[in-house]
Amino acid sequence: MPDLHRDTLDGALQARLQRQRERHRYRERRTTSGAGVRGPHDRLTFCSNDYLGLAGEPRLAEALAEGARRFGTGGGASHLVCGHSEAHERLEQRLATWTGRERALLFSSGYQANLGVISALLGRGDIALHDRLNHASLLDATRLAGAGLERFAHGDATACEQRLAALDPSRRRLVVTDGVFSMDGDTADLPALASACERHHAWLMVDDAHGLGVLGVTGRGTLESQSVTPQAVPVLMGTLGKALGTQGAFVAGSDALIEALIQFSRPYVYTTSLSPALAWATLTSLDLVENEPERRGHLDSLIAHFRREAAGLHAHGLTLMPSCTPIQPLVVSRHSAQRAGDGEDGGNDLAALAMAESLEASGIWCSAIRSPTVPVGSARLRVTLSASHTRADVDRLLETLYRVSHPSRIAGRERS
Ligand SMILES: *Cc1c(COP(=O)(O)O)cnc(C)c1O
Repeated sequence: MPDLHRDTLDGALQARLQRQRERHRYRERRTTSGAGVRGPHDRLTFCSNDYLGLAGEPRLAEALAEGARRFGTGGGASHLVCGHSEAHERLEQRLATWTGRERALLFSSGYQANLGVISALLGRGDIALHDRLNHASLLDATRLAGAGLERFAHGDATACEQRLAALDPSRRRLVVTDGVFSMDGDTADLPALASACERHHAWLMVDDAHGLGVLGVTGRGTLESQSVTPQAVPVLMGTLGKALGTQGAFVAGSDALIEALIQFSRPYVYTTSLSPALAWATLTSLDLVENEPERRGHLDSLIAHFRREAAGLHAHGLTLMPSCTPIQPLVVSRHSAQRAGDGEDGGNDLAALAMAESLEASGIWCSAIRSPTVPVGSARLRVTLSASHTRADVDRLLETLYRVSHPSRIAGRERS
């Protein structure tokens, strides 16, 4: 007898969902009541990418309302039909100037921007060389393009150059890297990658989702902080939904690059334009990034404070990764993993989850990042700091981390 239930849509899906649960990979959404770091019942959030605290900024809400009144809440059509408003145009020009490039092009999300660029630049027979820890959207984009996908060791420009030297120079080769790595918080070595690309006539693309607004003296991102010129990185992608506090993304580069995207990028052509109200509000985000450098100054002091004080967590089985950005991950040790009952496979997902749950019981929201988002065995608490945290907030996080990871406490849980 065939199992009829398994052959139905829901039956097949439920079997898959069950496997996901058994592997401790099941994920759940949590409903929040707002963008701020302080929630109801004294809850403090340390897992948002709203690094400058702009997502809940009243002046942005005002600008959004004004944008909606002037240009509409929705774009109404794609950019090439009649969805390209004055608000989009103004924002594109401003982003081009801000990043020191000829032009910029808006997309509705960073995921879509990455699909849009790589699929327009590469095709079958071409190759994208990725840092091993690149964002998932960059890998998906390469698959959409039908291009070959190669990965080099994380942060290793020499390994990248060795691959470039071995590849047929008549093929198009695009080197792709995150500026700031989203789960590790460290940065790419852009000067080294840029010179490798120059020597081998390859193109370089940087996804600076976590660098823009945060790094560099004026917040222009990873390129500014490493003194890399726009010429060295011909393709720059940035998102608006992280430090800039709105939503959407852009690609900035030469006039030829932007024109090619408008003509050939299917993820650009076949979609409704980003809300013009959001585009309008993002102009105010850029004003705040430029005119309120104290947000970055405060954030930097919180980062330094956290790093100084969190180093001792190592003795409690939580190892702080090397990072100078607001992303400050704490990797759960193998020892804690064994105590938490993680499997023989070297995984530590359960231990990371247990740690996140203990934090939550104390009113701290900091999510555990597990495989497959990060490699097996490197599950972590991805702590992110924001300019809207106070030093007292960070002290409360530290105090709670030391308490819930204290060896005596974990031993106690084991016995019970
Ligand atoms: C968040 C992120 C994206 C996706 O951007 P969205 O606007 O959220 O779709 C792309 N790349 C990196 C490195 C990111 O961190």
